[in-house]
Amino acid sequence: MTRSQAESSTDAVIIGAGAIGTAIAHELARRGVRTTSIDALPAAGYGSTSSSSAIVRFSYSTFAGVAMAWEGMHYWLDWATYVGAGDESGLARFVQSGMVLLKEPGGHHERCVPLFDQVGVPYEEWDVDELRRRMPALDPSMFGPPASLDDDAFWADPQDELPGAIWTPGAGYVNDPQLASHNLQRAAQRRGARFRFSTTVTSIETAAGRVRGVRLSDGSTIEAPVVVNVAGPHSGAVNALAGLEDTMRIGTRPLRHEVHQVPGPPGAEGVSCPVADGDTGVYLRPEVGAQLLVGSLDPACDGHEWVDDPDEFNRRVTAAQFERQVLRAARRIPALTVPNEHRGLAALYDVSDDWIPVYDRTDLDGFYVAIGTSGNQFKNAGIAGHCMAELIGAVQGGRDHDSDPLVVTGPYTGLPIDMAVFSRNRPLHPGSSFSVHG
Ligand SMILES: Cc1cc2nc3c(=O)[nH]c(=O)nc-3n(C[C@H](O)[C@H](O)[C@H](O)COP(=O)(O)OP(=O)(O)OC[C@H]3O[C@@H](n4cnc5c(N)ncnc54)[C@H](O)[C@@H]3O)c2cc1C
Repeated sequence: MTRSQAESSTDAVIIGAGAIGTAIAHELARRGVRTTSIDALPAAGYGSTSSSSAIVRFSYSTFAGVAMAWEGMHYWLDWATYVGAGDESGLARFVQSGMVLLKEPGGHHERCVPLFDQVGVPYEEWDVDELRRRMPALDPSMFGPPASLDDDAFWADPQDELPGAIWTPGAGYVNDPQLASHNLQRAAQRRGARFRFSTTVTSIETAAGRVRGVRLSDGSTIEAPVVVNVAGPHSGAVNALAGLEDTMRIGTRPLRHEVHQVPGPPGAEGVSCPVADGDTGVYLRPEVGAQLLVGSLDPACDGHEWVDDPDEFNRRVTAAQFERQVLRAARRIPALTVPNEHRGLAALYDVSDDWIPVYDRTDLDGFYVAIGTSGNQFKNAGIAGHCMAELIGAVQGGRDHDSDPLVVTGPYTGLPIDMAVFSRNRPLHPGSSFSVHG
């Protein structure tokens, strides 16, 4: 085969080279599938992945969600072996710091703790005295429910204390999500995968109800019997290129999000692990240089900032959101100083209707989707790649996944992952948190 033939046809085109897209490329390449990944941006992980807080936690609302996250953590523990040596940029690092999920009455812990028991996720229940002892930087007062800054309730003196917290020692965060994507790219390339950057997929080629390949912004085409949409916040736009807008029960939409960066509280009083705080509506994560990331848990009082066009949104941090989130964090951490300079980032989640991803085939034969990652799937990159590669192999091999859904076995834990939970045609999951918790 000549070089030009090799580049104009392949076994599978993957649209998107973020954390999930590169993991799918790696997993397909491991199975001997020739892949070509296309990304509009100049390098792997430059899309929403680059903005990820990269927290690895297990606190989801479904068995499959918790099982996937627990399985997914093992990929990070085994990262050097999983991606292998040979990335000239070094390897991303999993900081297994543990994580605190603060309890509040009716809080998210009530959904996920029974699932921890079912899946086998190790955890400790802390009462408020233990929380005070283990996390002295945190004020365990009950401030919630979250309120906006112009609501007197936000400033009211707390009358009670939180019931305690759930500690998951296996949780943590990945120090560099963009580098993790690059690691996956290099691992895939060592098995023959191809990557083309700064190139946009402009149309999906079809014939007789099957996908035939893609057309690119440089006018060229790549023929392939399999095309995978892993376009992150552009997932809806790419589905529209394939004429699939109205064929899935579960839709996806871009949602704007800000994550702010502030100096962490000083010395021994620092916050050394992620904290999910539904009582104030923020999450916290340590960052290099004694900094702290402050993200939002989307409390109801804030509303949602949906975006029509993922290429057109305000990429700058706003004073209003900075003050709101950082002041919420400062209620929980009395030693936190609120800087005048507003540092942080604005990025997009690709949110599904029930905040649970869609990992599935579509009504167009050969066209697959790994979309709707809803601000909570970076941690699952490895296992999502594995699940998608298993699904693609099964469906291309003739399995009717719609009527006989695939159950994937987690390679590290042996846990069953029922792919029906991630179907494009599922009813909205009644147990979902309908938030970034998943
Ligand atoms: C602010 C923020 C914080 C987050 N925090 C966490 C967290 O703490 N823990 C966690 O697990 N998850 C988190 N997430 C979610 C996680 O980062 C995402 O689920 C994950 O990175 C998505 O990866 P992806 O590969 O699907 O998409 P992306 O990284 O968005 O990649 C999609 C790629 O597709 C490309 N593309 C789109 N359209 C086209 C086209 N037509 N042609 C060619 N290329 C195209 C884009 O250029 C882009 O590079 C967070 C997300 C955000 C935004």
